[in-house]
Amino acid sequence: MHTKRIQQFEMFVCDDCREHFYDEEHGDDDQHIVPGTLVDDLPQTYRCPKCGAPKKNLRPVLSIGSTAW
Ligand SMILES: [Zn+2]
Repeated sequence: MHTKRIQQFEMFVCDDCREHFYDEEHGDDDQHIVPGTLVDDLPQTYRCPKCGAPKKNLRPVLSIGSTAW
């Protein structure tokens, strides 16, 4: 597994409800997450506002779309 070094904002979706999207570029105003906060940097207390799933249930949207580069 390779880790990309380029800092790039990604969009994540809650894998439980598939209704909540977390955009690293915009953060989450409702939970006082400032814009530019990476999912890795989210507090452990972060929960999906729709279903309450923990942040580890967030999946990169790009990996779901199975778009090959
Ligand atoms: Zn959810």
